[in-house]
Amino acid sequence: MKTLAYILICVCIVMGCKVRQTKENEKLIVCSTSITADCVRQVVGDKLIVKSLMGPGVDPHTYNPRPSDVVLLNDARLVVYTGFHLEGKMAELFDRLSERKAVISFQLDFPKEKILYTDEITPDPHVWFDTDSWIHSMNGVVDKLVDLYPEYELEFRENFYKFLVKVEKKTRELRLKLNEIPEERRVLITSHDAFHYFGRTFGIQVKALQGVSTSQEPGMRDVVDLVDFIVKNDVKAIFVENSVSPKALKSVLSSVERRGHHVRIGGTLFSDALGSKGSGADTYLGMLDHNVNSIKEGLK
Ligand SMILES: [Zn+2]
Repeated sequence: MKTLAYILICVCIVMGCKVRQTKENEKLIVCSTSITADCVRQVVGDKLIVKSLMGPGVDPHTYNPRPSDVVLLNDARLVVYTGFHLEGKMAELFDRLSERKAVISFQLDFPKEKILYTDEITPDPHVWFDTDSWIHSMNGVVDKLVDLYPEYELEFRENFYKFLVKVEKKTRELRLKLNEIPEERRVLITSHDAFHYFGRTFGIQVKALQGVSTSQEPGMRDVVDLVDFIVKNDVKAIFVENSVSPKALKSVLSSVERRGHHVRIGGTLFSDALGSKGSGADTYLGMLDHNVNSIKEGLK
């Protein structure tokens, strides 16, 4: 039944059921994740309505569209997503949707030479943690917005420039903050491999229990290898993520304890989704701030 419902939802998105042409829909931008939605919001301000399919704490790798997503995607004037197969099962839908409406991904303008690969052909999709390249990749999104809403061109470009300056400033500030952790302790261990771009941007070694996607469970070998690494490198803290179950990481913690080494949970990091309203990590910049502060506190 679940599969049938999923197929029906996909057909509705691709074929365009229930299209409602209203004045409000003319201003509706639908983004895949809370991270893409916040970045678009920084550009459009209160001129347009920005909605996100996936809310706070939702894992994009395994996300299945819901009936309410059909309505949103069909009503939207523009659909914005990350790309690089981050939105796992949704990727093909966005592709098909682009045949009949405006759809754009951050992937389009992301600098090719900055892409990290998990093997010869698979790009690591957690590109928003390379802050400079992420902002660069927003150029395509901003151009698309200006194409659709030329009356706001000046305002959108000015907002984008202000956001770019803020992100550059925040990146410099957070890099300095992480550099205050003694080098031998600058190791970030998390549930899934979402922090390679983060590590490159902010100067910290990263290691994870699961691969770049959460669609496959970690195996026994992954657990044993990570436990060995923690004990050998005398790691003090590991970090859970808001969009991934902490269960597997907690079993690592117990195994480490059994080996006579003490390691604690250093905090919760926001990897693939922002935090809920009021969490302090409910914006792109807030999320970066929260992550760096938690890492610094956990590893000190
Ligand atoms: Zn991820």
